[in-house]
Amino acid sequence: MTEASVVVIGAGPIGLAAAAQLAERGIEFTVLEAGPSVAAAIDEWRHVKLFSPWRYDIDSAARRLLERAGGWTEPDLGTLPTGGDLIDDYLEPLTKTAELSGRIRYDAEVVAVTRVGFDRIRTAGREHAPFLVRLADGAELLASAVIDAAGTWRRRNVLGGSGIPARGESSLADHIAHALPDVLGRDRDRFAGRRTAVVGAGHSASTTLLELGELAEEVPGTEVLWVVRGNDQARTYGGGDADELPARGALGTRLKRLVQSGRVELVSGFRTEELAPTIDGRVELVAGEQRIVVDTVVNSTGFRPDHDMVSELRLDLDPILGSTRALAPLIDPNKHSCGTVPPHGVDELTHPEPGYYAVGAKSYGRAPTFLLATGYEQARSVVAALAGDWQSARDVQLTLPETGVCSSNLAYDTPEAGTCCGPTPQPLDSDLSTGLLTIIDTPTTQSTCCS
Ligand SMILES: Cc1cc2nc3c(=O)[nH]c(=O)nc-3n(C[C@H](O)[C@H](O)[C@H](O)COP(=O)(O)OP(=O)(O)OC[C@H]3O[C@@H](n4cnc5c(N)ncnc54)[C@H](O)[C@@H]3O)c2cc1C
Repeated sequence: MTEASVVVIGAGPIGLAAAAQLAERGIEFTVLEAGPSVAAAIDEWRHVKLFSPWRYDIDSAARRLLERAGGWTEPDLGTLPTGGDLIDDYLEPLTKTAELSGRIRYDAEVVAVTRVGFDRIRTAGREHAPFLVRLADGAELLASAVIDAAGTWRRRNVLGGSGIPARGESSLADHIAHALPDVLGRDRDRFAGRRTAVVGAGHSASTTLLELGELAEEVPGTEVLWVVRGNDQARTYGGGDADELPARGALGTRLKRLVQSGRVELVSGFRTEELAPTIDGRVELVAGEQRIVVDTVVNSTGFRPDHDMVSELRLDLDPILGSTRALAPLIDPNKHSCGTVPPHGVDELTHPEPGYYAVGAKSYGRAPTFLLATGYEQARSVVAALAGDWQSARDVQLTLPETGVCSSNLAYDTPEAGTCCGPTPQPLDSDLSTGLLTIIDTPTTQSTCCS
């Protein structure tokens, strides 16, 4: 068994930000990544353009390491990277810095985390026992703390409109594509000249629908259906020109036009109950009396965190979102139509299990409201706490784009994946040259949009 002071699960942007923070503080660490290379989740959507320009996408500790290493050219902060750019121009070079190189283990999927000699029930002395981290290949590591930045990409939500798989969903898996297929590239043949239903109402669905719309112009016979549970698409269409992140606003505006043009057929109020095979090898989606027959269903219903691998730890999970209970009210899509999420750090991320923290997209549980900038601040705060620097850990600050697009009358539409919600933080200072607001941890009950 090998020993590591801190284990970081996942070499995505937030796991690597945590690693950079640990390196700067001189704390020993190992990063465990399930995939064969850095940011394996983002690699699957490398063709997709982010809606956040570079200025929101680079962690400050990571930047310092890259600058110190030399040979790295910071991307133009005003431009929008694709997922691939994020890997090639930022994360991959970061893994090559002296501080991180050799500290990341690939093909190292964590399957369980517990404490040596302690199941979840046993209390006396538990906090002194090191963590035991088991990998899929059977290897085990000890850790003084675990920063779980595993994201949610590997666990998608189900198509079933009631939160459990629709009848027939697992047996017809061949007809279901993962969110964000590369419609105009790698996966083109699967969709060209065929009939596709995209299920979901978030940005992933919008992105796929726009690409399918483009494909339909190029290839006759390509048919596109957009299937949603709700009856009001206002949240998906978003704020258009009013959105502080123009790429995000434009996404919704373009989708609206596509639907109005008839190139995408909108099927609303559809809660999938069953998937059934047809005699000509297609798949039928059933919702009450409604029926849709397609070749392929793209599941864009969002993601959920994997808490199974940490089920022997003592977690204080919000019963709805699966984030910590302290974080849940700040990100709950049932209460807030969307919004800039207030800065938060170690206090909101603390579980009853000392030394275990979920950060990044995983920390939000099933709330589809996560932004990189928020995760970088989480990582900074958690690492400061592990270093015993509580003043810095609690001095949480966050700079996010100001948005002005949402109104709370959208808040009680059927929640679907892909909205971004949270109470409005209190502006301290606005920087008009960058369009940023500097905000502190003072939640209010209003809401504004963030993604
Ligand atoms: C299409 C898309 C566009 C987005 N655009 C933006 C944007 O414009 N701006 C923005 O701020 N945010 C955006 N986001 C949201 C968010 O920033 C990203 O999802 C981001 O990748 C989350 O980073 P993460 O490090 O938390 O998780 P991930 O990037 O998912 O990284 C998690 C890593 O952990 C690994 N892993 C998982 N399970 C295990 C395990 N058991 N053991 C070991 N390793 C494991 C995975 O392979 C992966 O490499 C976008 C998300 C998507 C999906």
